[in-house]
Amino acid sequence: MTTAYGKLTWEEVRDADKDRVVILNVSATEDHGPHMPLDTDTVLGMAVAEGVAAAAPDEVLVMPPVPYGFNEHHKDFPGVIWIQPETLLAFVTDITASLAHHGFRRILLLNSHGSNHPVLDLAARKTVIASGVICVSASYWNLMPARINAIRTSETGGIAHAGEFEAAMYKHLQPDLVHLEKAAKQVVHNPESRFFNLDLAGGGGGAMLMRWWSEVSPDGTMGDPTVADAETGRRFLEAAIEETTALVREIRALPILTRRDHHAPTTRKA
Ligand SMILES: [Zn+2]
Repeated sequence: MTTAYGKLTWEEVRDADKDRVVILNVSATEDHGPHMPLDTDTVLGMAVAEGVAAAAPDEVLVMPPVPYGFNEHHKDFPGVIWIQPETLLAFVTDITASLAHHGFRRILLLNSHGSNHPVLDLAARKTVIASGVICVSASYWNLMPARINAIRTSETGGIAHAGEFEAAMYKHLQPDLVHLEKAAKQVVHNPESRFFNLDLAGGGGGAMLMRWWSEVSPDGTMGDPTVADAETGRRFLEAAIEETTALVREIRALPILTRRDHHAPTTRKA
């Protein structure tokens, strides 16, 4: 059976193993510097999802992606399509409600655009409450910070948006669409800061401020794409696929638990 959800017939869905983990990639359509296309987050997120499907063909199904996300702060750059977080939350939870209705019990919301992270975290929590199924959200870079740091050549701050990580992987996948001759290094990371860190493998910071993107980046880049290399990109992608496959296997092994309502008074002997 194919792992592509969209290629199934309704009878195949009816008969499918409902403990397969259904992967839904949610991404964005937005500026990625002058050197990369608007579809970067979708291309990379689906490369991870499809890589997992190739590695574990009997364990997953891959949904068609949601190629738009929460990114209104990018709209000073032409081409950005932004979705309000309330709309995205409602849209994604309608998809998960549909999957639960058809009997699927294990869903992974695989995020490939940073600002979707809190929205998909809420969507997963709402799905659990509404449907009782297992629904997990994860931004794929968060599954492998140590591996990113072992592979990268850029300093902290070099991997945030359209930087070394994304440019290297896109270059590995579709080299003709990455124009590093137009790329510039835009590292805005402040090593003095105790609380702010937007590097995707920098351990995060304890606090978050998302400014208008045009305030912090002159050309849409945040990071260092100038050092991006296709072989490094292949290794980043391989690590992402391996770690996401490991996550999928953990999700498949999670027990389905039963709620217990504690409102009814217990009858205890005095
Ligand atoms: Zn991106």
